[in-house]
Amino acid sequence: MKAALNTGITGQLLEKGVKLISGDLIDENSLIRALEATEAEEVYNLGAQSFVPASWDQPILTGEITALGVTRLLEAIRIVNPKIRFYQASSSEMFGKVQESPQTEKTPFYPRSPYGVAKAYGHWITVNYRESYDMFAVSGILFNHESPRRGLEFVTRKVTHGVACIKAGLQKELRMGNLEAKRDWGFAGDYVRAMWLMLQQKTPDDFVIATGETHPVREMCEIAFSRAGMDYKDYVVQDKKFFRPAEVHTLTGDAGKARRVLGWKPEVDFKGLINMMVDADIDEVDRQVKNGSLSPRK
Ligand code: GDP
Repeated sequence: MKAALNTGITGQLLEKGVKLISGDLIDENSLIRALEATEAEEVYNLGAQSFVPASWDQPILTGEITALGVTRLLEAIRIVNPKIRFYQASSSEMFGKVQESPQTEKTPFYPRSPYGVAKAYGHWITVNYRESYDMFAVSGILFNHESPRRGLEFVTRKVTHGVACIKAGLQKELRMGNLEAKRDWGFAGDYVRAMWLMLQQKTPDDFVIATGETHPVREMCEIAFSRAGMDYKDYVVQDKKFFRPAEVHTLTGDAGKARRVLGWKPEVDFKGLINMMVDADIDEVDRQVKNGSLSPRK
């Protein structure tokens, strides 16, 4: 049986055939009950307070969920069935102020936000439980991965949804933060395949998952607007409100180990990814305008 612990609205988007169980990374007993009820053999921990700016507003909550939540889940696994294979969603945000480029599994961490700090804890506690208790616990250090299901607060989806709203006449401009920040963006579908592959190996190990290509936010805006026949310079306005107290300026991953050991490589390229997201948002906004749930500004 496929089961997902529903800790947020993403549950509403899951396919039929997936059974949702309520639970919380703050509530250890709910995790134990979920593992018992499902007799899970593999656990993928993608649960987190995952938005970097929110982690400055709620650093303690971020630590409770994103950091200590991992220990609670690992403890629940030890109690219910230590043979369960465990995947921890680690993050390129752990590299923060990067110590070398590109970043590999051996690059030292230098997180730049409470979120990055919490993810570094989650990474090391996973390694520690593997080494302390001989558990099959692995950490995937995933660089930014996007899809039409990405939350609207993240930069790619904010832009692709903004493009669709501007095209439909629902808004006139898009207010953004730092356009010079660079990220290594991949397609979430490709990255989920990598997570699954990590749990099918003979021995547990940690892997960087990335495309190896870096693009500035500005270029992402250019591609997204041009997909809809517009020039981003006519609509994008920089606003101090969206700048961060400490920025991660550039991230580039080296997924060489994943290519060699897992036989993994990404199938969707950067332009293909942004075009896919713009097309999906244009369709969705059109549908909402037609059914009256969104109306153009007078
Ligand atoms: P992150 O890498 O996990 O923080 O993913 P985000 O998608 O939230 O941000 C990626 C980069 O885009 C960061 O360097 C942000 O500073 C930059 N950025 C520029 N403008 C915006 C904006 O309006 N919203 C967000 N979320 N990020 C922005």
